[in-house]
Amino acid sequence: MIGIVIVSHSRKLSDGLKEIADAMSGAPVPIASAGGIDDSENPLGTDGIRILDAIREVMSDEGVLIFADLGSARLNAEMALDLLEPEEQTMVRFCDAPIVEGVLAATVQIAAGGSMQEAMKEARQSVQLEADEEQPASEPSNTLSRSFTIRTLLGLHARPAALLVRKMNAFAGDIRIANTTKGRKAANAKSINGVMLSEVTANDTISISTGPEQAEAVFAAVEELVKDNFGEEGMAPPKAEPASVPEQKQASTPTGTITQGELSGLSIARGFAIGPIHHVGGALQSAEPVAIEDTGAEIERFVKALSEAENQINLAISNAGDSINADDRKIFDAHISCLRDPDLISAVKARISSEGICAEAVWREEIIRLSGIYSALDDRLLRERAGDITDVGRRVLTILYGGQSDDGQVTEPAIFAYEELRPSDILSLDHGAVLGICTMLGGETSHAAILASALGIPVVFALGADLAGVPEGQRALLDGSDARIIIDPDEKTIARAEQERKILKDRLARAEEVRHLPAEMLDGHKVRAAANMASISELEGITDSGADEVGLLRTEFLYMQRDAAPGEEEQYDIYRSIVTGLAGRPLTIRTADIGGDKPVPYLERPTEDNPNLGWRGIRYSLAMPDFFKTQLAAILRASAHGPVRIMFPLVSTLEEVMAGKAMVRDVMELLRTRDQSFDTHLEIGLMIEVPAAADLASRLAREVDFFSIGTNDLTQYMLATDRANPNVRSLYDPLHPAVLHMIAKVIRAAHDEGKWVGMCGALAGDTDVLPLLAGLGLDEFSMPPSGIAEFKLALCQLQLQDCQMLAETVLQLDTASRVREQLSLFSERQQAQS
Ligand code: PEP
Ligand code: MG
Repeated sequence: MIGIVIVSHSRKLSDGLKEIADAMSGAPVPIASAGGIDDSENPLGTDGIRILDAIREVMSDEGVLIFADLGSARLNAEMALDLLEPEEQTMVRFCDAPIVEGVLAATVQIAAGGSMQEAMKEARQSVQLEADEEQPASEPSNTLSRSFTIRTLLGLHARPAALLVRKMNAFAGDIRIANTTKGRKAANAKSINGVMLSEVTANDTISISTGPEQAEAVFAAVEELVKDNFGEEGMAPPKAEPASVPEQKQASTPTGTITQGELSGLSIARGFAIGPIHHVGGALQSAEPVAIEDTGAEIERFVKALSEAENQINLAISNAGDSINADDRKIFDAHISCLRDPDLISAVKARISSEGICAEAVWREEIIRLSGIYSALDDRLLRERAGDITDVGRRVLTILYGGQSDDGQVTEPAIFAYEELRPSDILSLDHGAVLGICTMLGGETSHAAILASALGIPVVFALGADLAGVPEGQRALLDGSDARIIIDPDEKTIARAEQERKILKDRLARAEEVRHLPAEMLDGHKVRAAANMASISELEGITDSGADEVGLLRTEFLYMQRDAAPGEEEQYDIYRSIVTGLAGRPLTIRTADIGGDKPVPYLERPTEDNPNLGWRGIRYSLAMPDFFKTQLAAILRASAHGPVRIMFPLVSTLEEVMAGKAMVRDVMELLRTRDQSFDTHLEIGLMIEVPAAADLASRLAREVDFFSIGTNDLTQYMLATDRANPNVRSLYDPLHPAVLHMIAKVIRAAHDEGKWVGMCGALAGDTDVLPLLAGLGLDEFSMPPSGIAEFKLALCQLQLQDCQMLAETVLQLDTASRVREQLSLFSERQQAQS
């Protein structure tokens, strides 16, 4: 069988890639990993002798295919080739495909019995679907099709895709796969690239087509794979679309010039801007490969450009002063690390000397390759890092071309439109010239989004390719609150926006004044304004927000985006850093609420038909004592450094509360034997999210120090309405009288037992509902930190007695819409009085 040799600067990468390829192939394709060098101080590099050994290890009459990650790896592999016997040399081929996709594609092809040529073709096409589409396998005449819904958690990612390809290769005739959910063209189902680049994700429907003579057998084979969930562990629940993320649009296909109408996208920052559109920069500048004679001088020019780029970044950071925080700085540290990346630099240098072409062309290609690798990753956060790579690439190219970019220069203030916003675009912004920002592409978790949301101007991402069709200088209204841009707005629309802008501006200015004041009503009644938190990176934002405390730390996010659960020390370090950073503000740590809509793939859990009614929250923790104790030990140890509370999620029985508390006592004992300190009096509370717990509140209140009402789940369970199911969104209403009755009952029950009650579901941050919740007697309101100042502003205009009367009235109402009417009436009266 054809052998594969993986030559990478990193041994971890080549070993890991071999591991995936072995798992995908299903047949024993000989693969040898030849990564890294034997130098523990400096292990990155390639070693000709190791490569030679690897080639020999997998050599057979059918030959060997070599994949190398960077230019110098290829050079060393060529050296190794020189050491082979001449007849052996003729058996070895290099494949210029991207190393990860290429190795996986070639492995699957070889396992399916492909020739050297076929394996190389598959590998080369591994990142270009078009190449396959240009030469489609002849469309079978008289085809029959059948649809299948894919339920594997990650869709047809590498392993299931390889399984499908292997099965399909057992049939003689042509078989096509089309992702009908995403409207993709049919691709060759026998090609790993055809399948993977169809981008089948969980719950997508695929259509399999083939000739009638084999159709039933092919469909049965696919059916069997689907039934067996492709041998994968987790199964996605039937379609549950994230509410706020519109589908990413392709930036490359604008429909034409747009001088009127409206485009909508993702809101990154609220507010309104009216002005001319100014299109800024965009992708990497082009760079023709120009032949160079003095490659040494060219390398020197390249190295100088890198250090100039680093100087520019440092200068921009120091000019930005306090307008960027520590987290933002880390983004630019990452850019600097990219500029210093030894692999990237040595690859560019090696190619300049071996190919004799200019630095611009080589650098551009290497940047495109690197950002392509990021863009292809499954992980959304990592994928969004591709923008950072391109950003660094653009900066260096501009320097190599001997100039500064004039992208940001305009004659009058404008709405800046980008294909995709890069962090450095924001640093180099002329704040006087930019009224608002909009983009064709971009995700809400990208670094650029994080930075842009702090600019204090409206920002809307992901408006789609049509944005490119809006002419330069075209007047438009950018509405950050409604996530849209209105092109050529009429006077009425402008007047309305102006009015809303003024209201928002006044409100924010007034909110700023009360941000750091106590959360207090007109009559002096105090409540606590708390922040919800999911990661330590939010710490600075929380201390700046004016929050009195953290009412909810969603610890399950610590367990996500990784391969194994964090251990006690790691968790302790994180909790302790948060406690210390909060400088005396209490921290409510909710034990992991894993399960439901928050799966953690590496934790072995059975597939559940109704995960929201299944093994989540405290149910899971109690069943996994080691897992639970590890977390409790870390929380308790953190409590030695400042005020900490423990909170249990998704409680539905008294026994669960007793068992949770017993577990805390056990862990306290354990810490005593270890001589580790903790707060022996820390408060223990529970989330009220399940109607059973709400009903039992009087009894449960005797066992704990506090409750926090999770209205997101309480609404879902009270109304039997999946909080993520768009088909029942109109039914999902926390102002349903039944939910409000439950909230009122829980608050009363806790107060009767002398316990306090918070709320950390989304309802707590809704200022329209604040008078009602205050009237019901809620003690702590926990919300996203960005809402704290406006919450305090709304609160300080209220009288407790008015709110109590409102609550009494509302509790008599029988529909959510009547509740809403009553709330608006109250707010109108309030405004009339003020
Ligand atoms: C809730 O259910 O209201 C809550 C705060 O918990 P989560 O949103 O994390 O489920
Ligand atoms: Mg919840």
